[in-house]
Formats: sequence, C-alpha cells, structure tokens
Amino acid sequence: MVRDDYEVVIGLEVHCELSTKTKIFCSCSTEFGGEPNTHCCPVCMAMPGTLPVLNEKVVEYAVKAGLATNCSIEKNSKNDRKNYFYPDSPKAYQISQFDKPLCYDGHVTIETENGEKEIRIERIHIEEDAGKLNHDEYGRGSFVDLNRAGVPLIEVVSKPDMRSSAEVEAYMRKLKSIFEYIEISDCKMEQGSLRADVNVSVRKKGAKEFGTRTEMKNMNSFRSIVRAIDYEAERQIEEIENGNEIMQETLRWDDISGRTFSMRDKEDAQDYRYFPEPDLVAIKLSDEYIENIRKSLPELPESRKKRYIENYGLTEKAANFAVSSKYYSNLFEEATKICNNPKTVGNMIMSDIARILNEREEEPDSLKFTGKELGELVSLIDKGIISSAIAKKVLEELFNEVKMPSKIIEEKGWVQISDEGAIKEVVMKILENNAQSVADYKAGKDKALGFLVGQAMKETKGKANPQLLNKLFLEELKK
Ligand code: ADP
Ligand code: MG
Ligand code: ZN
Repeated sequence: MVRDDYEVVIGLEVHCELSTKTKIFCSCSTEFGGEPNTHCCPVCMAMPGTLPVLNEKVVEYAVKAGLATNCSIEKNSKNDRKNYFYPDSPKAYQISQFDKPLCYDGHVTIETENGEKEIRIERIHIEEDAGKLNHDEYGRGSFVDLNRAGVPLIEVVSKPDMRSSAEVEAYMRKLKSIFEYIEISDCKMEQGSLRADVNVSVRKKGAKEFGTRTEMKNMNSFRSIVRAIDYEAERQIEEIENGNEIMQETLRWDDISGRTFSMRDKEDAQDYRYFPEPDLVAIKLSDEYIENIRKSLPELPESRKKRYIENYGLTEKAANFAVSSKYYSNLFEEATKICNNPKTVGNMIMSDIARILNEREEEPDSLKFTGKELGELVSLIDKGIISSAIAKKVLEELFNEVKMPSKIIEEKGWVQISDEGAIKEVVMKILENNAQSVADYKAGKDKALGFLVGQAMKETKGKANPQLLNKLFLEELKK
C-alpha cells in the first residue's frame, strides 16, 4: 500500500493486435507462432523497392474500437513514419500515426471501490507490430523472426487518470472486454495480443503538478502490472523522501525478483523525426462509412448490464459480473433462454464458475461448455432432479469434459433421491446412531437438526432431496 500522504498517477499506452486475417501492409498471415520467418514476404521483410498497401480491415477495426470507447473519429487521417533502429524492425522505421490518429478524445467507465469513474482516452492510432528477437541460449547470438512484423496494432493512449494499481487493472480489463465484444482482437495477453506500457509517477497529495514519470514497457499480465505499479510507486516515494530526484527513464520489471531495473535513461530520449509516410495515401473517411460501422457494433456491456437488471432482475453486482466478459455474457443469455431462471444462472457464473476458473488460473475465454449445458444444469435443479450440491459437482465435470449434465448425472448415478421410503430409511438410521443430537434437539438446540441433515447428506453422498429430508426428520423428532 502506498503511503497516504502521496498519490500515484498512472497513464497507459495499450497495444492490441488486431485479428485481421492478413497483415497491415501485405497479404501475409497474422497467425500467432509458426516456424520463424514463414509468415513473411518482401514487403514485411522490408526489401528495397517494395511498397506497402493499407489493409482496409485495419481501419475498420480501429474505428470500431474508437466508437466503442466513445472516441471522435478523424475523417482526414494519415500514416506517418516513426524513425528508429531496432534489429527486429528491418525498415529502420515503423509506420504509425503522429498528429492525425484515427480516433481521439474518448473514455471508458470503470468500477472502483468509490463507484464509477471515467478514464479518458487521448487517442487510438494504428501502426505495425515489430518482429521478435530470439536470443540463443548458448550465447551464439540472436535470431530475428519476422512473423510478427507487420501484424496490425492499435495503440490506445490514456490520459494520466488512474490513481492506483486496482484502477489500472479495472481499466485494462474493461478495454479487454470491449475489444472482445466487438471482436477486433483475441486479446490473448500471454501471446502478447494485449500489452501495456505503464507510466507511473507520484506526487504529494494536493500537489497541482504531476511528478516525473517512469515507464515500464510491454507488460502482459494483470498480476505483473499490479505488482510493478505498487513496487515502482514505493520506490519513487522513497527516492523523493531521501531527497533524490526521479529520472524520466524506461524501466524493466522483473517478475522473479519483484523489482524494476533501469533500461535506458533520458539521455537516449528518442527523436523519431516523424514525417508523413510517402508510400501511402491519406485515409479519408466519409460520415456514411463511420455510421455503417457504428450500426454494426454489437450490444456493449453498459447496455447489457441495464437490460440484465431491468428485464432479468439481476442485482447490480451479478449484472456487473455477467457483463465483465463477453464469454460470461453470452453464456448467461444462452443458458437463461433454456432454463428461464436468470438469477440462478447469474449466481452460478459469479460464484461457482468464476471460482473454478480462478482455481484453474484460467480466464473466461477458456470456457469450453456453453449455455446449452449450463441451461440444462439449472433446469435439473429447478425440477428437483439434482440438488445444488450435486450441481456444483456437475460443473466441475463440465470443466473436464463437455457433456450434457443429464448424461453426467446418469453416468455418475447422481440423480437426487426423492423416494420417501428410501429417505425415511436413511433418516431412521441417522437418528439411531446419533442419540446425543436427538436429545440436544429435544432440549431446544435447533442446530442439532442441521447436523443430522448433514449426516444424512453424507450418507447419501449429497443425493437426498433436502426438502424431503428436513420434513421427515422433523416428523420423527416431534414424535
Ligand atoms: P510520450 O509522447 O513521451 O509517450 P505522452 O505525453 O504521450 O508521452 O504520454 C504517454 C503516456 O504517459 C500517456 O498514457 C500519459 O497518460 C502518461 N503520462 C504522461 N505524464 C504522466 C505522469 N506524469 N505520470 C504518469 N503518467 C503520465
Ligand atoms: Mg509514448
Ligand atoms: Zn508480408
């Protein structure tokens, strides 16, 4: 936790790889991985004399991203050359956008512990990704793989509006969820499809000016982003308290030691010598083009949330959770259509499904079963065929193998026992073996009933119909 006489200020530059089929300036595949240098052609390998042609889908996806994040769209946009040398970028410049980004002045809303907050987006521009260096483990040098060179990116630049690592995580999760809803990226952070440059500064509470910031580049897990910000804020405060100045520099976060290291300082502050890309024409968009894209957008989380509260009677909390990911939201809608019990579906997603994902360290995009299975599962509870305790076990099974829940309970013999005679037998046995609890109950200790029911559940491996069990116990105990 950061000292409470200081405030942390954070701004993010988020890079998101677009899921177009082909690269931004050539027709090579954007598919992740592959043998090194197999998704390449003379254009993305920067052979002299080759010329780029802009992939129209990239513009469309970027405009989608802009509209979904409340941005204005620039109708007279263009590409610019950003000049710098790095071995994974053979042209020695990157085609990006400088003064006329496609989208500008947007915002997204995040939930914080003090309610909703708007994080402003300064701009979203399009650019090309770089290749990758593979460092030889035997020290024989480094190899360049250009498969990723020319994969289209959008860069989303936020205003320095975030004040804690929790707000940063909420903002990143919000962007990820929006980009998943509008289907412009697979947003796989572990593959680098979504990554952030994190700018951090601190200042005394109440100060008007921002402090000097440091930047940590290419962070691609929520956990490291949160840890890195918390560490870096503490480090900066300590420097200031010791009378030192913060240097504006690029840092590298090391997950293993849990600290930041200096990479390069201000001395190499880059002069990119931007100029309009002479090999590409300007990007001119008509109102009609923009409106058509607006109309093509799917329903976004904010509107879904309203609908879930108003039409389905979900609580604010359950609704927020259900829309936090497209994968949850689609699961919720599909399952509800089948079982017509939105409350149970919503609760199951928020508690059980989220818990199991968390235990497996997986994200909602890895869910393999659909609303078809979940909907049937909830119907089975509602019809009294299984108890909710058994439903939880069926869910665990669904994570291992996708099968209809009715099939699972049949195979496992998990159908609820609702036969009065069979349950009565169990009740009598438990009463006989627990004379002390019976005496306790009769002496006014109501809790003893819960214990007896629990024993009966254990005896039947959770399969006894709980209402029937309660009823029969009460009947016997009153005798
Ligand atoms: P540059 O052009 O050098 O990358 P920008 O002004 O475009 O710098 O800012 C880059 C990112 O840094 C933005 O996301 C912005 O919100 C953030 N940022 C700028 N100043 C600060 C600061 N003092 N503390 C934290 N973040 C900052
Ligand atoms: Mg920058
Ligand atoms: Zn190519």
